[in-house]
This record gives sequence, C-alpha cells and structure tokens, in this order.
Amino acid sequence: MSKFKDKKILIVGVQSTGVSLAKFFHSQGAKITISDSKTKEQLGAVVDQLEEFEPVWDLGGHTPKAFSGQDLIVLSPGVNPHNKIIEAARVAGTPVTGELELASTMIKEPIIAISGTNGKSTVTKLVHEFLKQSGVNAWIGGNFGTPLIDYINQKENADVLVVEVSSFQLETVDTFKPHHAILLNLAEDHIDRHRSMQEYVNAKKKMFKNASPESTSVLNADEPLVIDCARDPVLQRSKLQYFTRKVGLEEQIKKIGGAVFQGQEIRYYHLVGPATGNDLGELERYNISKMRMRGRHNVENIMAAIIAARAYGAKPDVIQNVINQFPGLPHRLEFVRKKGGVDFYNDSKSTNVHSVIKALEAFDEPIILIAGGKDKGVDFTPLIEPVQKKVKNLILTGEAKERLNRTIGDFSETFIIGTFEEAVLVAYQKSRNGDVILLSPGCSSFDRFGNFEERGNYYKDLISKL
Ligand code: ADP
Repeated sequence: MSKFKDKKILIVGVQSTGVSLAKFFHSQGAKITISDSKTKEQLGAVVDQLEEFEPVWDLGGHTPKAFSGQDLIVLSPGVNPHNKIIEAARVAGTPVTGELELASTMIKEPIIAISGTNGKSTVTKLVHEFLKQSGVNAWIGGNFGTPLIDYINQKENADVLVVEVSSFQLETVDTFKPHHAILLNLAEDHIDRHRSMQEYVNAKKKMFKNASPESTSVLNADEPLVIDCARDPVLQRSKLQYFTRKVGLEEQIKKIGGAVFQGQEIRYYHLVGPATGNDLGELERYNISKMRMRGRHNVENIMAAIIAARAYGAKPDVIQNVINQFPGLPHRLEFVRKKGGVDFYNDSKSTNVHSVIKALEAFDEPIILIAGGKDKGVDFTPLIEPVQKKVKNLILTGEAKERLNRTIGDFSETFIIGTFEEAVLVAYQKSRNGDVILLSPGCSSFDRFGNFEERGNYYKDLISKL
C-alpha cells in the first residue's frame, strides 16, 4: 500500500507541475488540496483538468486554513519556498518538499542532471539524442517539458534519465543524488527570486549536495564561478571531469577524463574505470566543422553532453552524426529567414545578460540587436563591451528599455521603441545587405508575452509579414 494513502497532501502552485503532482497523489489514494496565488479565472482551463482528482481548492491567494493540518506540502518550482506561509507551516512541523526531490526519492535508475544559467535545455536534448540514437533507452524531462514525477506516473522503465534541473527546483532538494551532474556556467539571473547572487549559486550547488565517489561532476573549466564550486569539499568527494576551450588544460584532462576543444576538433578523453589521476584516458576525436548550431558556446554544450552520454553507452559514430545534423532547439539562436540580404535570428530564450553576450560572439556580421523585456533587476554593464564591438544598431523595447538605455545606449546607435511590432520594423528599416537582425532580449518575456515561445513565434510571424 502506498505511504501516501489517505494522507493529506497540499500542492502549492498549479503551473508547470501541479497537474502531474495531482495525478500522482490521486493515484496513491491521497487527499489533495491545491493552493495557488492565481484565481480560478486566471488559471483557466487547467482547473477543469484538475477537477478529476477531486481536490479541495485554495485559489486566489494562500490561506492559513489550507496550510494547516497537512501531512506533506509539495511545491511546484514556480513557488518561492521562502514564502511566509510556507515558512510558517515548516516551523509548525509540516514537512515541505519540492517536486524534483519527491520524484527522485522514488527513482532507482541513474540520473544525468544538467544545470547552469544557460544551455541546460540544449545539453539535455543533446545527451538524450546521443543516447537514444545509440539505442539506449533514455528518458528525457525535468525542467525540459515533462516533470520528473511523470516518470513515475507513466510507469516508465528507462536505463537512464536525462533531467534538466533549474535553480528553482534545486532550492528544495535534500536527498537528490544524480549519478552524473553537469554544471555548464553560472552568471547573474533570477535575482528577483533568489534575492542575491550567492543564494542563486547556493541553489545550483545543491545539485552536488550528495556527491560521492560513485558520482561524477562535470564542470566547465572556463567559467570562474563554476571552478569556485569545484573547490567545495562536497564536490571533491565525486569524480570531477572538466570540459574546456583552453588547450593548456589538456595534460590534466588526459588523466582525469574530460574534453578539450582545439581547432575544429573536440578531443575527448574517455576514462575507463575509476579516475585515479594516473591512468590515461582513451582519446576520441569529434569534428565540429559541420556543426549546424552557431556559436562557440554550443561547442561547450556538445563537450558536456559527450562526457555524460559516453558514460551511458552512446556510440562515437552516432555522436558525430548528431553533431553534424542537430539544428539546435527553436528560439535558441534559431535562423529564421533571409530577406533583403539580411539574416534574421530568433534567440527569444535568451533571458539574461550572459546569453546575449554569447549570441553577439556568435556573429562576425554587423548586428542589429533587439533587446528588452521584463526587467529582472540585473546588472547590464557586462553588455557594454560586446555591444560596442559588435552592435551596429540597438533597438530597445519592453519594460527594461529605459534601464538598458541608461547602461548601454551610448555604445551603439540606439532606438527606444514603444511596441515590439515597431521594434522589428525599425530594425528592418535600419538594416543593409549583409547585416544580421538578432532578437536576443536578455530579459524574460512576461511584460508582454505568456512565455519565450510566444515571443519567439510572434517575432517569426512579424518577420514573415515584412
Ligand atoms: P536554458 O535551458 O539553460 O535556458 P537553453 O539551451 O534553452 O538553456 O538556451 C538559453 C539561451 O542561452 C539561448 O539564448 C541560447 O542560445 C543560450 N545558450 C545556450 N547554451 C549556452 C551556453 N553554454 N552558454 C551561454 N549561453 C548559452
């Protein structure tokens, strides 16, 4: 019998994982309450979907009544665990957990966890493609579309799980113990939720909380904040493997396993057996001259993905094929079309300064950059230098336009535009043969759109009508 049978479970937060959590607890015979700060009207159709699980509703704000007398409180990733009413329930003795933690306690299969400020989805997809096309039964999910709890709901039985994990999900983990944990990079983001950079970094580091000699931590050796994490004694307990674009590190990587990028080649040192620091890894070479994704950051993504996927049976020739053919995910430096001698790119998923910098680095052509969106209060000054070097015209729009203009407006010919539609039009009017028009907002989409997909699709739609 399920340990949740007849237990009183409060699910906080409907969006993204609420339905999957309700489905799970309903199947276990639990008594469900659902609390959300949004009203029934704001939530819309999802409420009807949830009715079949016969929950007690607490909508339009969280009320103390719903939070008292529960056996367990489970948070969706969108819910801030420092919320006062949640803290109070915790103090009163009610266990509080998150969806990732809850699901992972019921999974015995190895998990490859992928985190970082940028590149999570791309690497998650790459690892899964490398494995799947090699014939490995790999499951993909987490922050990537399907919540981990759906692995249980679907009664799946994979050989390995490829799981994207966000800082929001990691905030509430305790026993989560991935076999492979990849940390791609760390840069300022989500300060509105995490309050400080340190708190954000601490959340990301929780991916390694239960690192052990049997687990592998895969780190980007070129990112200073990631390397700071490697010094943590907790990470030192695991096998550490690195990927880097600095050839100077190759001698070290040979001994511990990992990947180096040189010229057109990824040199991957495959370590068979435990990393002792004395064995030499077997060298495998992957060529990136046919890579379809733009930007050197995608070489980093491929290196990270190779290290994890090779540990679970991905085949080298399959990996090479995927490198040659994978076009990248939509809304990540996605080529849209050529018109009037101008290449249009959609990088709507670029919601922080770090990803805008990588997008600018990916082009040699003069760039007309469309940026702006919801203001998360981050520091825009790291954009000054790349904007000065690469951006011919800066088109600023959305809620963050004024603050962006104050910081970077003097470093390119800048236009501050009221509407998104007009921004695209002005970008096109300013363009000349050979230019690139790039939407890489550096801000989230919620000032105007439901999500980054809606923003990217609307951009593509506007371009098609030019
Ligand atoms: P995430 O899931 O972490 O948001 P995505 O793969 O969806 O990552 O990419 C988000 C944004 O970051 C896109 O603009 C993409 O071009 C950019 N990006 C992808 N990989 C990296 C990387 N390794 N470093 C920096 N930016 C990246």
